[in-house]
Amino acid sequence: MLLFTPGPTPVPESVRMAMSTPTIHHRTPEFEAIFAKAREGLLKLMQTDECVMLASTGTGAMEAAVTNLAKKKVLFVNAGKFGERFGKIADAFGYETVELKYAWNTPASVEDIEEALKNEPDIDTICIQISESAGGLRHPVEEIAKRAKEINSDIAIIADGITAVGVEPIDVSNIDALIAGSQKALMLPPGLAMIGLSEYAVNRIGKGRNYYFNLASEISKQRKNTTAYTAATTLIIGLNAIFEEIDKCGGMEKLYRDTAARAKANMEALASIGFDLYPQTPALSMSAVYDEEADSIRKLLKSKYGVNIAGGQDHLKGKLFRINQMGLIEAYEAAWVVNAIELALDDMGRREYNGNANRVFNEIYFKESSV
Ligand SMILES: *Cc1c(COP(=O)(O)O)cnc(C)c1O
Repeated sequence: MLLFTPGPTPVPESVRMAMSTPTIHHRTPEFEAIFAKAREGLLKLMQTDECVMLASTGTGAMEAAVTNLAKKKVLFVNAGKFGERFGKIADAFGYETVELKYAWNTPASVEDIEEALKNEPDIDTICIQISESAGGLRHPVEEIAKRAKEINSDIAIIADGITAVGVEPIDVSNIDALIAGSQKALMLPPGLAMIGLSEYAVNRIGKGRNYYFNLASEISKQRKNTTAYTAATTLIIGLNAIFEEIDKCGGMEKLYRDTAARAKANMEALASIGFDLYPQTPALSMSAVYDEEADSIRKLLKSKYGVNIAGGQDHLKGKLFRINQMGLIEAYEAAWVVNAIELALDDMGRREYNGNANRVFNEIYFKESSV
């Protein structure tokens, strides 16, 4: 079965092998060397001044960023499940919240952020997804962050990059916390979260409402290549193996280029068989399509064509399908996915199969990718 959900994503063979070695103790020079290498790789990937690794899923990193950086009032962008989650975290820890709510296909606008900051000048933190995975939507986070910092340089910008880090290069000039998770673009099993931090963020971390996720103590430990609590040793070994695998496959630039090529090829292939992407500004991490029969398509893909793609959540349950584009993906696997969707449409009597999706995917992918 081909796993084409936008998280978890398949773990490359070499990485699974690297993680199958005997467990080592985390308080050893041997592990410190592994940690140092992972830290170096992460700083290079994120381009931030500082970074921490946490033994948690991505949501833990969202909670850590909020409780270490927010002071009193948090503005959060809710254009999907993950944006909504920032609001729930802020509520749970007793922050005042301001919600900017959008339809799941609609990106946040710089103007709306400007207005919110004008109306509520005591907002001290902004939380937003770079790629909101609920609808496959890309928010203009870099522009929003830039404008917010111009208005008030003391606003912390928390950017959830769980389906953006490793997908495309991100301009972190105005981002204070850049969140990543292991099981999406980084092609690892779930359980490791990462936060890239600006110098400003490092200095801003105060006495937050947290214990396990106290980033000040993590930073001081991790600068010495150890962790406050038991490190996720196996996943950190896996992270180094991921960096090696990416290098072996041509490096980050090639991965970014191939991901963008895959996104374009999927979009055009889907258009060639009558589908439009759901979001107004699609993220490169996935292709999300609105269709009344999305569940029937997904069921056929699973039962007949050996492909697992994701559906929609909440009000889009049964009405959306989402195809992963993150990570190192073989072109012949990605081409098969759109071909399988075209075959499913024929099975359902909706459209006669003529091989358009596969042809269009390949034409575009091999023109745009670095192959
Ligand atoms: C998957 C995802 C998360 C949550 O990650 P967990 O690892 O399930 O906690 C948060 N934000 C975005 C954008 C995601 O795609």
